[in-house]
Amino acid sequence: MSKNNKTDFDSIVIGSGFAGLALIHYLREAGQTVQVFDKASDIGGTWTWNRYPGAMTDSEGYYYCLTFSKELLQKWTWSQRYPAWEETHRYMHFVADECDMWPHIQLNTEVTSAEYQEDSGIWLITTAGGKQYTCKYFISAMGMISEPVIPKTKGMDSFKGTLFHSARWPEGLDFAGKRVGIIGAGATTVQMLPVMAKTAGSVTVFQRTPNFILPAMQKPMTPEWEKEIKDNYDDITAKCRKHVFGMAFDSPVGRNAVDTPEDERQQIFEDNWNGSFRWVFETFDDLLADADANRMASKFIIDKMAERIDDPELAKVLLPTLGEYPLFAKRPPLDHGYLEAYSRDNVNLVDIRNKEPIVEITETGIKTTENEYEFDIIILATGFRAYTGALEALTIRGQGGQTLSDKWEHTSKSIMGVCVSGFPNMFTITGPQAPFANLPTSIEQNAIWVANCIKKMDSEGHNLCTPKQDAEDEWSAHVAEVHVQTLMNQGDQVNSWMMGANIENHEPRILIYFGGADVYYDKLQESSDAGFPELTFNCLTQ
Ligand code: NAP
Repeated sequence: MSKNNKTDFDSIVIGSGFAGLALIHYLREAGQTVQVFDKASDIGGTWTWNRYPGAMTDSEGYYYCLTFSKELLQKWTWSQRYPAWEETHRYMHFVADECDMWPHIQLNTEVTSAEYQEDSGIWLITTAGGKQYTCKYFISAMGMISEPVIPKTKGMDSFKGTLFHSARWPEGLDFAGKRVGIIGAGATTVQMLPVMAKTAGSVTVFQRTPNFILPAMQKPMTPEWEKEIKDNYDDITAKCRKHVFGMAFDSPVGRNAVDTPEDERQQIFEDNWNGSFRWVFETFDDLLADADANRMASKFIIDKMAERIDDPELAKVLLPTLGEYPLFAKRPPLDHGYLEAYSRDNVNLVDIRNKEPIVEITETGIKTTENEYEFDIIILATGFRAYTGALEALTIRGQGGQTLSDKWEHTSKSIMGVCVSGFPNMFTITGPQAPFANLPTSIEQNAIWVANCIKKMDSEGHNLCTPKQDAEDEWSAHVAEVHVQTLMNQGDQVNSWMMGANIENHEPRILIYFGGADVYYDKLQESSDAGFPELTFNCLTQ
């Protein structure tokens, strides 16, 4: 029950991943009653849905975690540089257990609609089971890469074997000795292929656009490394908060690729080839901003990839062509033996962009313009409707009966990714036009902003906050102004999810703030310090 006994809860949150857990902590600290609903059968969000073989973090585990409790940071130990999904999932259980969060979480509960009641300012939440709940604040913690994209390929329903999206991995699926087809060659496939290839009868990957693939260079945690991390957690947390991508990286480095003589530049590229996205940030400061610098980095990566591929025909398909698109116009995958997997006899690559496009899914497999491939299992590793997808998958109705999907038909505007005009008392964690960054860092900064806003309302006796249209226009204009100056602005040419350009019959749009996560976190702090000037506050009689 809410504090004023007028609604079932003060806040209802959808999603029990990192964002849901962070909200439980920060809202409880703000004296709120909070209820989290999740349609999954376990907590974890991404780390409960994405159970494909090889799934693991691409951020290094020691900063891909929640930082609100120094005690928990000391208590938990990661086993390796990039924890596999099972370990991250165990970590999330550890947080929920240690912080006694379970009473706030109801699993197996799909929210089908959230409707703002204009007369009372209360949100009415309806679940698939037909139950209804009321709350003062409705908060999305559904994740920014969570709603799967299913291609509209002809014959999708006709396949007699097992067909599913990579983020809906069937529990207990036995693929040993089976013929597996994977449509898509993004970050998911790059992780999945080397693991599946070890036991599957065969794995055939249908690739459209080649990727810039960076090596992950996994390594185990050692007692010395763990001590170094745990002795320095305050600095690590501060580093993430001050980094352009929310990562604990040592950047900016104060030098540009374009100003560095070629020999020296190559040496710096080589010396930093130690795995993770660090390479992009800890070599030079201009790789994502300057087209020439980006080309230099792209060439280095292509050359490194080429060294690992013996077969020239394979190389032609797997390697991006220099100048085809900038590094990071598509989010580059991190790999753990992906390229080497193609040298196995049981792994095949089909070039569906230049050689044999897919025509249809048949009863027995996949038909291209040239061949028919037979499979027992087809995996759609075809990505996600990023940033807006989860929010558009249910009916969210705001002022004047407008739905969020209607509002976002042509553009997906917000105020700093945390609230949307026309939707009072609604907050979104890492919504559209927030940065793309180390997610736990962004999630906590968002949750702190939301909790501070609610604390202000409580202390000043308001029960309604309404995001201002002009604040939304201003933020969106700023996001767009920054976006067009970056190389990520070319993502629409290569179906990048970062611009929603991977969705069929959907206008690409600016979904991400690339002005720096550090700058963005400062803006959230400034907003909070200034009393949330982007919102109007009122007191409605309920
Ligand atoms: P993705 O990067 O969007 O890749 C989707 C793949 O499917 C692409 O190769 C795409 O080809 C292909 N595809 C899409 N529709 C298709 C169609 N109709 N026909 C043929 N091919 C089609 O998706 P993802 O690999 O699932 O990764 C998405 C994001 O999730 C990543 O970028 C990353 O941010 C996140 N992720 C993170 C981790 C991690 O951190 N551990 C792991 C996995 C994923 P085109 O490129 O030509 O469009």
